[in-house]
Amino acid sequence: MSLFEMSERATKYQSDLLEFMDSCVYPAEPVYESQMAESGNPHFQPPILEELKEQARKRGLWNLFHPHPEWGPGLTNLEYAPLAEIMGRSPHLAPEACNCSAPDTGNMEVFTLFGSDEHKEKYLKPLLEGTIRSAFAMTEPQVASSDATNVQLAMVKDDAAGDYVLNGRKWFASNALHQNCKVMIVMGKTDPNTAIHRQQSMMVVPMDAPGVTVMRGLPVFGYQDREGHAEIDFKDVRVPAKDVLKGEGEGFAIAQARLGPGRIHHCMRAIGMAERALELLCRRAQSRIAFGKPISDNANIRDWIAEARIDIEMIRLLTLKTAYLMDTVGNKAAQVEIAAIKVAAPNIALKIVDRAIQVHGAGGVTDDFPLAGFWAHLRTLRLADGPDEVHQRAIARQELRKYREDAR
Ligand SMILES: Cc1cc2nc3c(=O)[nH]c(=O)nc-3n(C[C@H](O)[C@H](O)[C@H](O)COP(=O)(O)OP(=O)(O)OC[C@H]3O[C@@H](n4cnc5c(N)ncnc54)[C@H](O)[C@@H]3O)c2cc1C
Repeated sequence: MSLFEMSERATKYQSDLLEFMDSCVYPAEPVYESQMAESGNPHFQPPILEELKEQARKRGLWNLFHPHPEWGPGLTNLEYAPLAEIMGRSPHLAPEACNCSAPDTGNMEVFTLFGSDEHKEKYLKPLLEGTIRSAFAMTEPQVASSDATNVQLAMVKDDAAGDYVLNGRKWFASNALHQNCKVMIVMGKTDPNTAIHRQQSMMVVPMDAPGVTVMRGLPVFGYQDREGHAEIDFKDVRVPAKDVLKGEGEGFAIAQARLGPGRIHHCMRAIGMAERALELLCRRAQSRIAFGKPISDNANIRDWIAEARIDIEMIRLLTLKTAYLMDTVGNKAAQVEIAAIKVAAPNIALKIVDRAIQVHGAGGVTDDFPLAGFWAHLRTLRLADGPDEVHQRAIARQELRKYREDAR
């Protein structure tokens, strides 16, 4: 499947995961839909998901993303990439079933790297066991948050009490409405007068801390995602100094460390959605007859199919190259590739899903097929974890830097 040779254990995980998808996950999709519809609550935790989690655990398909062998299989990014892609084919079920969903994966890495022993016991352990979930609150409604130095949520030190007082508003905190969400990592401003990248800090805040109010779940193209994207108000929320991650002024550095792996995981899952959309497109195009022949007999549809195959192969190769670089030279040295795939994968997957919708006719925009949901999700990926333009800006800056000497 790739130029990059996979280890024996990675190949074994792939075949086990494919078997899990076929025998458990795909058959669970209609059950999930009917349990969600019956509940009448968009943030309901359906029993089928807990059953899938149990199955995944039994099969050793748990915490597949975690790079530390103490907590998961300890796979490299390159080994994990095809697994995330496979899970991406059923994005509402498979990542959570295998305890590999965003933003928990990023938060678990932050707790592993920067959490105190207490954080590890209280939050990391249950996150790794899949008994609680978590949110990450950086974006704010009042400022352009694609530039993280803009965040305004005030984190004011109260020396006498030995804690910080948080005031401000966040939005789009994904997962905050999940029934099991117990904790969030919040980024705010501790010192507006120091160097621009040292002004921010990250703190661990329980969802039930006094002064935390979840105002509403924000819809995405009319969907209320099960995990929820919450607008949250912070009014005089007191956070003990021991819950500052890594230390005051380290928020920006943690954000950089956290977002690298998270971004590429999104891309891997996007490829899975593109693959499934192409499969659905081909099946539908061959089974529907219009104007006396299967829709797949039209030249433009064949071109779409060929282009989709070419595009998927290209983004998969760039994803694997990026994963390989992250493993071998580190996230910082791989930043151009991480930015490039974060732009390419959602855009290309979106194009393929859009064409699959077209081939499905009106059915394509309904919930009878997963395509409309894929489209909505992929469209948000052009914003979440940084809009396209911000990544393009970073790539262009690096490109221009190469020729700066010549210009002088
Ligand atoms: C479904 C979803 C889930 C999300 N989950 C989370 C989460 O869990 N936690 C969290 O903190 N945030 C989350 N976000 C928020 C996301 O990270 C932000 O929306 C993103 O960083 C952009 O910030 P903004 O919305 O404030 O846009 P702004 O910063 O206001 O930018 C608006 C637009 O300006 C343009 N722009 C900005 N800079 C440039 C530039 N340099 N050059 C050219 N154009 C530019 C871009 O087109 C950009 O889309 C989520 C968003 C969505 C849609």
